[in-house]
Amino acid sequence: MFLFKKNVDKSMLYVGIAIPKHIQSSIEMLYCGGIPKGETKDIQLVVDGLTYDAIITKYNTSVEMMQIHYGAKSAVAVKLRCIFKYTDQQISMNHLIAEEKREYAGIYIENSQLHFECVALDDIENECEHTLTMDEQAIENYYEMKDTTAHYEFKEKVSKFRKVNQDIIENLKQLYDCRCQICGEIVGLECGTKVSQAHHIKYFSKSLNNDSDNIVILCPNHHALIHNQNPIFDRQQKKFIFPNGYVAELKLNKHL
Ligand SMILES: [Zn+2]
Ligand SMILES: [Zn+2]
Repeated sequence: MFLFKKNVDKSMLYVGIAIPKHIQSSIEMLYCGGIPKGETKDIQLVVDGLTYDAIITKYNTSVEMMQIHYGAKSAVAVKLRCIFKYTDQQISMNHLIAEEKREYAGIYIENSQLHFECVALDDIENECEHTLTMDEQAIENYYEMKDTTAHYEFKEKVSKFRKVNQDIIENLKQLYDCRCQICGEIVGLECGTKVSQAHHIKYFSKSLNNDSDNIVILCPNHHALIHNQNPIFDRQQKKFIFPNGYVAELKLNKHL
């Protein structure tokens, strides 16, 4: 089960990560009886197939706060700095990291354990060679397509990038039950299906930004219209403003 995407930062490489509120209960279910406030539990993390020790703390605060900790010298921190060496180097030199070079991990629960699927700069660059010549809509299609026919080695080689990014999109579609955020419709119900598409507010081909706050879920008509007319998205008011002045507000919004 996919939980969330974590962009790599200094804390992740040296200290640990905070667990977003909406997935705390899924994580607690892993540990019998949950985690009482103010308590700490020993846990295991699986990073790229290897298992490491860490601890998880639920703080005794009014705001629900839960964190996974490991020391800077722990085996898991060393492993993460080895995988994400690009981010580690940039941080140590106080450099800002370009959006299209941001490394990240997909955090999953599999076989009752927490897994980190690490997407490092190499994975991003390898994957993006495939999409160099595609336009934005073709790229968006490509990442939404669940390729069940690809043979095993191919999947193993390219899958981390695609897996994590497809799961982010899938989670958002589930959040809206495949409804278009502009018109609220679900397309395809009468045929026994639901068709919706993920649109990247800042074009994915330029930003490689597949964070949920860069994505809106749309019906195929509204998606085509947006690529046809290139409206500006007003983030504050959550609306698309078309070149002729037409305004399409988001009827549904749970995540922006
Ligand atoms: Zn629509
Ligand atoms: Zn799009």
